[in-house]
Amino acid sequence: MSVRKRKRISAIKGTKDILPLEARKWQRVEALSKEIFELYGYREIRTPVFEATELFEKGTGETSDIVIKEMYTFIDKGGRSLTLRPEYTPSVVRAIIDNSLHLQAQPMRYYFIGPMFRYDKPQKGRYRQFHQVDIEVFGEEDPAIDAEIVEMADFLLRRLGVRKTEILVNSVGCRKCRPSYLSELRKSAEQSRDVLCEDCRRKIAANPLRIFDCKVESCREASLGFPKITDHLCPECGDHFRQFLGYLDLYGISYSLEPRLVRGIDYYTKTTFEFVSSLLGAQDAVLGGGRYDDMMREFGGPDICGIGFAMGLERLLSLIPDAEEKEGFVYIACMGDAAKRSGIQAARALRHEGVECHIEFKARSLKNLMGRANKLGACWVLIIGEEEVEKNRLQVKNMQTGIQKEVDRDDILKILREPPVEP
Ligand code: AMP
Repeated sequence: MSVRKRKRISAIKGTKDILPLEARKWQRVEALSKEIFELYGYREIRTPVFEATELFEKGTGETSDIVIKEMYTFIDKGGRSLTLRPEYTPSVVRAIIDNSLHLQAQPMRYYFIGPMFRYDKPQKGRYRQFHQVDIEVFGEEDPAIDAEIVEMADFLLRRLGVRKTEILVNSVGCRKCRPSYLSELRKSAEQSRDVLCEDCRRKIAANPLRIFDCKVESCREASLGFPKITDHLCPECGDHFRQFLGYLDLYGISYSLEPRLVRGIDYYTKTTFEFVSSLLGAQDAVLGGGRYDDMMREFGGPDICGIGFAMGLERLLSLIPDAEEKEGFVYIACMGDAAKRSGIQAARALRHEGVECHIEFKARSLKNLMGRANKLGACWVLIIGEEEVEKNRLQVKNMQTGIQKEVDRDDILKILREPPVEP
């Protein structure tokens, strides 16, 4: 008789499991991000994972690599074209319009943490499901906000212990000054057509700004000679950019001007910025963002400007040193049926008092139970045997000092909350 081998189903390429030890680090980063954003007046907003495909076609832009190559698009059973969100901004803008949030006091400051999906070639720091921390501000035109969000990102990274990031800044102009710059850029790109890759040749007509996103060496080299957008800004954009840089100086934040920083997405106006780290390898951007003053209006909503950034959590986490986790939990070691029942009640009472408590139900010897407690890393072990049940008492062992004493059951919380003994 032949034995059919069961087929193993593995995770999809470009996705990964976040296992419990690592998840602790994620929780710390998420909690600190939220704490800091709330300090700056941001509030959480959550939107669905999938949206109408046209939301991203219109928002992210039809000439962006995301829309051309990277979207997870599918037709649902009702025949609608849906897309797993590849980025967050268009979803927030839609949510504001749908829920008339713009009727509230402005500026509106929102944050969000969650998964994004892009069908890109997986490599170190690039996944098909990845996670972003995202912040957006609506209704604030003043360039002081552009600098404030850079300062907030800088503060968050420093609080997380991330070192050695460089801040790149640029302005991509607006719908008034960009057309004349684009025609200059087109002319220049046309002269370099021979050295440009196939993709970039197509971009000359479609949107030559997108040539700056290309990673092909000959395209990058050619783009160094292209005209700089910052030399073609209209007075309003030039003034906005100068003021933005002035506020960064006020904060004492150092930055580098990067005139090729156009950030792969079609909607940006005026300010763009990125935090990069040489420790990340080829995918060196930790976070990126900019202003998008036209999106709300183009989505049929009110004429409200916006600015924000998105930070990649996988890349960020790879830059954060592993903190030593000190888990102060209690292990309940019980022997015999009566002790098991007593241990179950003790575990419940402690948990309800906010004490983390582990109890295992399989019958084991004391030696075995102590071994388990040690292996799991318990700080305290409560030992309950038949004798303890009869006396309504417990043995408490401090695993750090090795001291064990018998105590009254009612005193256990007091003992656990005693300050730790210095080693
Ligand atoms: P973007 O939405 O393209 O401006 O990206 C913002 C940030 O998200 C980047 O700086 C990265 O940290 C992160 N990111 C973007 N794409 C990916 C990806 N495919 N895998 C992992 N992180 C990503």
